[in-house]
Amino acid sequence: MEAILFSTIFTAALGYPYYRITRPKPVYIDDEPTSREIRQSPEYRAWRNAVLRRDNFQCVYCKATDNLEAHHIYSFASFPHLRFDTMNGLTVCRYHHTLTPNYGSKEKAFSQQIINS
Ligand SMILES: [Zn+2]
Repeated sequence: MEAILFSTIFTAALGYPYYRITRPKPVYIDDEPTSREIRQSPEYRAWRNAVLRRDNFQCVYCKATDNLEAHHIYSFASFPHLRFDTMNGLTVCRYHHTLTPNYGSKEKAFSQQIINS
C-alpha cells in the first residue's frame, strides 16, 4: 500500500511512472542470440568436429569418450578471431569442461586477465 502511494506521488511529481526507474535493466548473459546462431552454424560444427577428430574423440584429460565438448582455450566470447581456429580448441568431457579456467561465469575475469597482460 505504501509502495503504491509512493509510486503515485512519484508519478505526479515527475510526470513518469516510478516503475521505469525501479525496474531492473535486463541482464544479458554471454550466450546472446547472435552467439547461439554462430554455435549452430556449419562453420562452428566443422570446427567442433575438426577438434574432436584431432583429439581422437577423447577427453584430453581423462580419455572419456562420452559427452564430449569442444573447449575454446581462448574464450569464444572475448576472442572472436579464434572461434574457428582448431589450435584454439580442446576436446574435453562435460565434467572437465566445467573445470577449464574460462568456463561459464569465469570467462570475464579470465579474458580480462589475458587482455591486460
Ligand atoms: Zn574428462
